[in-house]
Amino acid sequence: MATIPLDVALTTLRPQLRDAVETALDGTRLSDEQALGLAEIRGAEHPAVWAAAAAVRDAGHPPVVTYSRKVFIPLTNLCRDVCSYCTFARDEGDPRVHTMNPEEVLAVAEAGRRRGCKEALFCLGDRPEVRWPRYREVLKRYGHTSTHGYLVEMCRRVLEETGLLPHPNAGVLSRRELAELREVSASQGLMLETVSDRLCDPGGPHANAPDKRPATRLAAIRKAGELGIPFTSGILIGIGETAVERVEAVLALRDLHERFGHIQEVIVQNFRAKEDTPMAAAGEPGLIELMTACAITRLIMGPGMNIQAPPNLSADYGPLLLAGINDWGGISPLTPDFINPEAPWPNIDRLAQLCEEAGYALRERLTIYPEYLRDDAFLDEGMRVRVRTMADPESGLALVAQ
Ligand code: SF4
Repeated sequence: MATIPLDVALTTLRPQLRDAVETALDGTRLSDEQALGLAEIRGAEHPAVWAAAAAVRDAGHPPVVTYSRKVFIPLTNLCRDVCSYCTFARDEGDPRVHTMNPEEVLAVAEAGRRRGCKEALFCLGDRPEVRWPRYREVLKRYGHTSTHGYLVEMCRRVLEETGLLPHPNAGVLSRRELAELREVSASQGLMLETVSDRLCDPGGPHANAPDKRPATRLAAIRKAGELGIPFTSGILIGIGETAVERVEAVLALRDLHERFGHIQEVIVQNFRAKEDTPMAAAGEPGLIELMTACAITRLIMGPGMNIQAPPNLSADYGPLLLAGINDWGGISPLTPDFINPEAPWPNIDRLAQLCEEAGYALRERLTIYPEYLRDDAFLDEGMRVRVRTMADPESGLALVAQ
């Protein structure tokens, strides 16, 4: 749906932008030059771009907006990196440090299963064992020398003992690690966040985060493509990148997806300033900026891509539907968003009502999207039957008990 008729909206665009937007509306791939031109959107051009993105979304998707019912499993909140906006990671010695033991992991997953969840999202810091000696002792007690080994074991046990589909978000991984996780998960994820190397310079938000180097992350996402892993990635907006760099990040994801076809969704996440972080006083992107980032991502990635924006990171998230998104991401009836603990999940009934008012049905999906679960190339042999029996044969979305 659009707030204003599309043809009227398009008249507000300067010629070069109009050319880019009309190219996307025709279902044609934008050139890099056209895409980069979208970084110049200003003033009354914003709603025109939102309306166009919504029309492109509607051309590629039924009137359905999806979400995944999941539990969050913060396996460990230790990390070897330090990002200036993060409150998830803690230093060893901080009383809030916690590494979940196997019993805790399985108890959360089982409680989720009872509440109808189908996904177990494992979120954790990057290779904490490299930096934290006491954590290495904890891993040893659980029979492991690496976080990866422990994660693989817990994904396997969650899968076998509760039936929830693991989706690990475990930071930058090697080819071997990605391949091992592929055997015990239905999809994996790594946010690209940004392609701006500047943000790794001293004083930047990624100055002390080796795993946030854009080339490192792009290489990991590429390896996932080579291995045929249904992959979630995305951009984080408002951490100091320019509008052009934001578009370049989306183009980098498009490039990888065009080569390997593995990016099942692109998240557009807005930076939220958190107390007790070096970026506590940094300005947050407003709703207009976020909507335009969603819209640009849609126009660049095309009608078929799944574009996601988290509903709990915007005070008023309904308007995001006007900017071309078709997915809300993971929502948990049980566990908080451990990355943004101050931001509660919306009530699912309220979310459904809001979607309906906008002309869309809210539907539950699995962590793996329909187009990937039907394709043998994207699932380990051992996962195929399990995943497909959890999906509605017609839509490929989650089979929901009535
Ligand atoms: S890599 Fe992730 S968990 Fe680690 S400090 Fe950065 S944002 Fe936090």
